[in-house]
Amino acid sequence: MSSEQSLRPAQLLLGTQNHGKIQEAKDLLSDIGGLELLTVTDVAFSDVAETGNSFLDNAILKARTICQETGLPVLSEDAGLEVDALGGAPGVYSARFAGEPSNTDNNNALLLERLHGVANRTARFVAVAALCLIDGQTFVCTGVFPGTIATEASGDMGFGYDPLFIPEGETRTLAQMSLYEKNSVSHRQKALARMGAILEDLVRSGELSTRP
Ligand code: IMP
Repeated sequence: MSSEQSLRPAQLLLGTQNHGKIQEAKDLLSDIGGLELLTVTDVAFSDVAETGNSFLDNAILKARTICQETGLPVLSEDAGLEVDALGGAPGVYSARFAGEPSNTDNNNALLLERLHGVANRTARFVAVAALCLIDGQTFVCTGVFPGTIATEASGDMGFGYDPLFIPEGETRTLAQMSLYEKNSVSHRQKALARMGAILEDLVRSGELSTRP
């Protein structure tokens, strides 16, 4: 590798169309030296249908498909909410809990309806991050964020189920917490922080580079 090439940052495409997730990933990974984060506004890619039966299957499916489509290393993530009283639902159906097309207000209303009068409101967000390199290597990391489901929505920050999710040890919902607070404790933070350590290694070793 020439000195000019070695000074050019390795590119990593964030494999999501969700602007809330892009913002969180940028916030968590932008301080990795030698790494340039690209998003769907830099490199267009198709939506990938989440046909897997687990967060792991879907995260790998998205990263691998977008990597093959764009020829770039891709970091994708699949996440969702597991509610104990609902046997782990909505789980992989979190985005389309109340049907398709995905509608956050309807999902939150349905969750409140299903939990109406239910005392056990324990739940957790789970995130699985998958990194696919152009040589086919795949890395996965998981993060779990425990909490409870509130009896009514509060707050207007964040996205998805944030107005209903009260993290363990908190009295506020995630939608009442700043992005900074959420990012220091969230499921995605845990998965992406673990992935960040792997990315640092891959940047250092030159394995993330798309250039010969
Ligand atoms: P995805 O399939 O990973 O895009 O996420 C599935 C769904 O899980 C999202 O549409 C949200 O409804 C929910 N979800 C995942 N992470 C979060 C979060 O951090 N806050 C609120 N909802 C989330």
